[in-house]
Amino acid sequence: MRNAAIIGSGPAGWTAAIYAARASLEPILFEGLEPGGQLMTTTEVENFPGFVHGIQGPELMQVLRDQAKRFGTEIVSSMVESLKLVEGGFELVANKQTYRAKTVILSTGASARRLGLENEKRLYGRGVSACATCDGFFFKGKNVIVVGGGDSAMEESSFLTRFAEKVYLVHRRDAFRASKIMQDRVKANPKIEIVWDTEIADILGEEKVEGVILKDTNTGETREMKIDGVFAAIGHEPNTLLVRGLVDLDEKGYVITVPGSTLTNVPGLFACGDVQDAKYRQAITAAGTGCMAALDAERYLSH
Ligand SMILES: Cc1cc2nc3c(=O)[nH]c(=O)nc-3n(C[C@H](O)[C@H](O)[C@H](O)COP(=O)(O)OP(=O)(O)OC[C@H]3O[C@@H](n4cnc5c(N)ncnc54)[C@H](O)[C@@H]3O)c2cc1C
Repeated sequence: MRNAAIIGSGPAGWTAAIYAARASLEPILFEGLEPGGQLMTTTEVENFPGFVHGIQGPELMQVLRDQAKRFGTEIVSSMVESLKLVEGGFELVANKQTYRAKTVILSTGASARRLGLENEKRLYGRGVSACATCDGFFFKGKNVIVVGGGDSAMEESSFLTRFAEKVYLVHRRDAFRASKIMQDRVKANPKIEIVWDTEIADILGEEKVEGVILKDTNTGETREMKIDGVFAAIGHEPNTLLVRGLVDLDEKGYVITVPGSTLTNVPGLFACGDVQDAKYRQAITAAGTGCMAALDAERYLSH
């Protein structure tokens, strides 16, 4: 029976591992199918404190991994296939092996929903993004498209007007489902143009995004438009399949934690990072809650 098992290797998981290892909990961390998490899919990270000139996403994740390893974190390069409660703690199965731990720190993250286009995948990080806070700065004086009709699409479009020359908000229907106050803010912004009843049929460009093919959802007609960036703001999917039925989730599938802590409704199970955060979704907030989870686990064990 180990002290702490950490599931996930994004900023939350590695930070939890650094703290847990330094507290002599001898943690074991399962990396999952995407070692390093979401930041492995990006290039420049300019807003993680401590790196004056920015750092490449994969490099940042390697540094965090090395730091966790330095203090003795045991790393398993597989995904956890099942997690259940047993006498005195939890049982995890990964790669056909069974592990037991008194506490579990869940840091399985979330995945941004994609438009589902081939070229979207190819141009991800080269003009295609799902995070205005992360990438808006790179679009100073440029023209961008935001896709979506909910609160986050309204928020992303408004935020992008700080940098972009023009923001086209493309929505496949003729009405938004966002709250009225957010809609009003968007409609009153002269830098935002709403393009109703339209979806993106393709994204164009070799090395970076250069344009899109727009499709009228009523007539099926298509037209080409020059553009520098495409932001998909169509929601996120928390990676909570593993804990469905074990722990309380909110209506969107995020793990519910006690405010101001990483405690879940299951004693000994702590959640940190994007898997429990539909609001901030940043590397530094994930790392911050990773630290909290390790401290919460440590206190739980000492009581
Ligand atoms: C393209 C892109 C660019 C971004 N740029 C920035 C930026 O510039 N600045 C910033 O602050 N934020 C940025 N973000 C957001 C940031 O990446 C996330 O907020 C952060 O990675 C969340 O960290 P996390 O540890 O919660 O989870 P994630 O990074 O999502 O990692 C989840 C981990 O869980 C693992 N996992 C999932 N299921 C299992 C399982 N069953 N068993 C074992 N492991 C499992 C995965 O393999 C993965 O390692 C960006 C996001 C994207 C997609």
